[in-house]
Amino acid sequence: MSNYPSLSFEIFPPNTQVGEEKIYTTLKGLQGLKPDFISVTCSNRQKNIEDTTLKLADYIQKELGISSIAHLPAAYLTKAQVDKILTQLDELGINQLLALRGDIVEGFEPTHDFQYASDLTSYVKEKAPHFQVTGACYPEVHPESINRIADINNLKKKVDAGCDRLITQLFFDNDLFYNFQESCQLAGIEVPILAGIMPIVNRNQALRLLNTTQTKLPRKFLAILDRYENDPVSLKAAGLAYGIDQIVDLTTQGVSGIHLYTMNNAQVAKHIYENTAPLFKKEEASLQEKQDKIFLTKLEELLAV
Ligand code: FAD
Repeated sequence: MSNYPSLSFEIFPPNTQVGEEKIYTTLKGLQGLKPDFISVTCSNRQKNIEDTTLKLADYIQKELGISSIAHLPAAYLTKAQVDKILTQLDELGINQLLALRGDIVEGFEPTHDFQYASDLTSYVKEKAPHFQVTGACYPEVHPESINRIADINNLKKKVDAGCDRLITQLFFDNDLFYNFQESCQLAGIEVPILAGIMPIVNRNQALRLLNTTQTKLPRKFLAILDRYENDPVSLKAAGLAYGIDQIVDLTTQGVSGIHLYTMNNAQVAKHIYENTAPLFKKEEASLQEKQDKIFLTKLEELLAV
């Protein structure tokens, strides 16, 4: 079997001096895990993207030799600004981006050059067709959508505009992902969908999620939070095991790829990797393929005699 899933990581540019120093140690830690790519987030009203997202994406590609993807939320960008960013990315040799609309912030009027991520996608594909464009998707429906059907129809528009693959919002219930995948298939969305997984390793992180996302938390997951409320070591162990369990199930069911929301924590990514690496084992897979080919060639030679 050669269709092993991809493994990729998301990191975010730190906004403190300490974080700035730490991020390079984190990235070096991630390098050893040989991900297929690392994506770098971008704040939706970012003024100096070259000092944050682009700088890190460049470091990942040039210094670590790992393919990088720059996130680009465009609601607050003009076409001229996007042109400039595309040129900068091209100069850095980065030809992949995650095309996003980004959240609309109350009291701040968007530019209206890119109303939806699909507008940015078609713009990039027209201006720079050699770029690979990834899009975001929402197994639990985007919060602004009126329903699942409308959301999937809009996603289809984004894919038709030129999205080459999709990465999901994080989720904790794999069944929601499988239902979403099925809806995508029915809608004719055929690009690979990478599953976004965030291992929960501390209570604050879990509480933040509870307050800020509408992600459904399964009973099994809530039980971990309840049971280990005052036991951070056990909470971390159980949270990591939960993430690994999700990944094992997803890869077994043939997911195209796992995109790990690392929260800039290389230790967590390493733990997950060490416990799941064979599921992503491409080198061994291609070795096996080579051996199979040699065997078949020899067999053909023998049969020809
Ligand atoms: P869109 O695809 O434009 O969708 C937004 C809403 O509009 C949806 O409800 C959709 O159904 C609807 N819609 C889309 N097209 C149409 C249409 N033609 N007609 C009518 N309705 C339509 N945010 C950041 O600021 N920075 C990041 O780095 C970042 N990274 C992310 C990475 C991933 C993998 C994900 C899943 C999200 C990320 N986000 C990021 C958050 C994202 O920007 C928000 O969820 C935002 O609200 C929507 O962005 P989008 O690109 O998905 O928007």
